[in-house]
Amino acid sequence: MTSETKLIARDYHKAMVPFFGTAEVGSWVNGAMVPGNGDTFELIDPATGKAFLALKDAGADVVDQAMDAAVAGQKVWWGMTGAERGRIMWRIGQQVRDHLEELALLETVTAGKPIRDTRVEVLKVAEMFEYYAGWADKLHGDVIPVPTSHLNYTRPEPYGVVTQITPWNAPIFTAGWQLAPALCTGNAAVLKPSEMTPLTSLALGVLSKKAGLPDGVITVLAGLGATTGVAATTHDATRKVVFVGSPRTGAIIAAQAAQNIVPCVLELGGKSANIVFGDADLKRAVIGAQAAIFSGAGQSCVAGSRLLVQRNVVDRFLDMLVTGANTIPVGDPMDTATQIGPINNAAQYQTVRRLVASGQDEGAQLLAGGVRPDGDAYQDGYFLRPTVLGNVRNDMNIAREEIFGPVLSVIPFDDEAEAVAIANDSKFGLAGAVWTQSVDRAHRVAANVRAGTFWINSYKTINVMSPFGGFGASGYARSSGKEGLMEYMQPKSVWTETAANPPAAFGYAPD
Ligand code: NAD
Repeated sequence: MTSETKLIARDYHKAMVPFFGTAEVGSWVNGAMVPGNGDTFELIDPATGKAFLALKDAGADVVDQAMDAAVAGQKVWWGMTGAERGRIMWRIGQQVRDHLEELALLETVTAGKPIRDTRVEVLKVAEMFEYYAGWADKLHGDVIPVPTSHLNYTRPEPYGVVTQITPWNAPIFTAGWQLAPALCTGNAAVLKPSEMTPLTSLALGVLSKKAGLPDGVITVLAGLGATTGVAATTHDATRKVVFVGSPRTGAIIAAQAAQNIVPCVLELGGKSANIVFGDADLKRAVIGAQAAIFSGAGQSCVAGSRLLVQRNVVDRFLDMLVTGANTIPVGDPMDTATQIGPINNAAQYQTVRRLVASGQDEGAQLLAGGVRPDGDAYQDGYFLRPTVLGNVRNDMNIAREEIFGPVLSVIPFDDEAEAVAIANDSKFGLAGAVWTQSVDRAHRVAANVRAGTFWINSYKTINVMSPFGGFGASGYARSSGKEGLMEYMQPKSVWTETAANPPAAFGYAPD
């Protein structure tokens, strides 16, 4: 790798210029950059641990202003035909494609995600807008076959203003993931990305205007959860809250929304079981197991953080896994060879390191990683070598808590029933996988593991066309696919009494 002793020079300002010019970065409100009113907070480059930009928290006044603009923008947007909305959404997708390299660079420079990953994630954002652009003129209600005395039909209607709160682990991906279905269905979206990583979401706001989106339809608030996030989720104009983040915050946000009887979509964390049987193609399974936990430095909601391996192959499998963990390129996210970049922020870095230590205290064996990579370049940022813990029991803390870092817990099992029982012994239910050459067993395990997404001889494949969401503490409701659209619409039932049938007798009947 080119960056062993020195990080590639980064120019934060240059990465921001294509989207924000030289203007001060604030919140994207009513089609323009608006300065915040609240406290100053800093953006930190995870690769260096150094602040590179100070922003002002949007605060309640800017939220009020944003909501007024969103209410007005939504009326304009819903007043257009589905075909018109679809054409503008398609153009947003095109803008994202046209700026793919610049968006990927901005995400990598400011959020620390390897450039090889951000290129893929930005492309997926373009696909999300294109996919939902295609739905925009195909959403219609039904005529219900009630008795012929009446005509009854349904109209799928938008909620109005939807407030969206997103995390730091895949900033532009989660923004696009929720903005596209919100727009497709005629809503205005007020998005508050994580205060650690707001820049690419703001860039999406800027690009949407270039694509012809009316002002107010997309708002992006740069701000803190406790102030701007609370103000947005509890605002009178908010008709639905979509939250992607940790279970702890999800529970708080659902309670905040409940104050105004506002429904939520909750896309939360996981502790997914990746199950390898002795009859699997182990060479493929080991690649899958590494990608499942180490890509994105394990900061992925679907990370395969519990690896369940059948006891008759566990030693052989561990040998391959440890070799992989010791050789995966960890380092500068700007380097195209890097597969694992830094952990996103100092607090998360401390959490991950504390959990690794607690696992060792509980009796788990550190087989790989647990340390920073060698080299001066990696001593200031939040780097950790991919970490493998053996001898893990499912009742240990490291097998129960979402670590959200490049840390794999390996748990041996004897037979299928035990593997399924261990997989299901978790409050979470986001994802899971099985590796086996037995078709019968593959589908049996897929049916029996409690999870919203399940892979057979694969891991992490997702597509905007397919529904995604959690069971249990991993959340409720679904995103992506046609199921994801349903979360952004509410059906109205319209009744007409047909003239041929007089109303049923009741009260005074004029001649
Ligand atoms: P987090 O819960 O700490 O914060 C998420 C967002 O909530 C941030 O924007 C934050 O500012 C905001 N927030 C905090 N308190 C708030 C409040 N009271 N009102 C309104 N907003 C508030 O999550 P995180 O640490 O940023 O992200 C990591 C978590 O996200 C992990 O648990 C991960 O599994 C989860 N995640 C889930 C999915 C999914 O699709 N299921 C996808 C990505 C990440």
